[in-house]
Amino acid sequence: MRAVRLVQPGQPLQADNIDIPAIGSRDVLVRVRAAGICHSDAHYRAGISPVRPLPLTLGHEVAGVVERAGPEVKRLKPGDRVCLHYMVTCGDCLYCNKGSEQFCASGRMIGKYRDGGYAEFVSIPARSAFLLPDAIPFEHGAVLMCSSATSLHALNRARLSAGETVAVFGAGGLGMSAIQLAYALGAGRVFAVDRQPNKLAMAREFGAVPIDAAAADPVTEIRRLTNGRGVDVALELIGRTTTMREAVQSLAVQGRAAIAGITDGTFEIAPYEELLNREAEVIGVSDHLAQEIPQLFDLALRGKLDLSRIVTQKVPLDADAINRVLDHLESFGRDVRAVIAP
Ligand SMILES: [Zn+2]
Ligand SMILES: [Zn+2]
Repeated sequence: MRAVRLVQPGQPLQADNIDIPAIGSRDVLVRVRAAGICHSDAHYRAGISPVRPLPLTLGHEVAGVVERAGPEVKRLKPGDRVCLHYMVTCGDCLYCNKGSEQFCASGRMIGKYRDGGYAEFVSIPARSAFLLPDAIPFEHGAVLMCSSATSLHALNRARLSAGETVAVFGAGGLGMSAIQLAYALGAGRVFAVDRQPNKLAMAREFGAVPIDAAAADPVTEIRRLTNGRGVDVALELIGRTTTMREAVQSLAVQGRAAIAGITDGTFEIAPYEELLNREAEVIGVSDHLAQEIPQLFDLALRGKLDLSRIVTQKVPLDADAINRVLDHLESFGRDVRAVIAP
């Protein structure tokens, strides 16, 4: 089968012809119909986050059709439309049992530690495959599995409750989902902070109050627009220490800043002024949970999460085309989300 793989970090992805993966008795072989190209994939290609063993097929946002099912698989059959939960876990450890499976010691993410969806086929344990409702297109299903899921997990981690105000730092793929999900969960007002005019315009279309960080200090703007109070929930979805600090500084009394962007940098917090005196919280967000996937499907089916304007580009399963999208993501380009349609 055709696959687009990371062979050497720092080098472009390469097209390859490899064997169709074998499946175990509890696995399914999925024919990929859509694979999202994520900002993380640009980090993997650049060697910023580890990928192994190499060469490895990238792609952790995957939707497709079951081609074959192992003999012990009861719940799925060939022809079923599915989305893949990217974290393949043991299902039996302390963390898997308490519903925090992203910390499973033997957990391995597809497209990072085992072959992913930049290919014609991918194999995965059947319990990581979720039936995708017919009304949700494959490319939306793929994007739901990462950017939307991470945004929902961040809002859940931040314990957003109805009527609260939210600031979303980063109006890209995650941010557009985050704005819609925040409103779906009952947020009162959502502010979207970015520097790209087209992203701010789209955020406004989804009902957010746009804040152009290139034109004004976002913290000052958020304070001004909330009568000095600040926001109850701030999400950092970019992975920059400056915006992490701004997220904390934007908080109201008892506000929660959920940090989902990835960086190896550090930032400072003034403990008394910014945390103690406000009883503010800074919360880490890692991946998402299988149990959040049905909630995402439900919101997408009810039209609360519209991905049609988020998936802005479709590309073929072609190394050059995919590398170009990754180049674009590296330079924080205009496209919100590109999906590979093999
Ligand atoms: Zn992703
Ligand atoms: Zn486990």
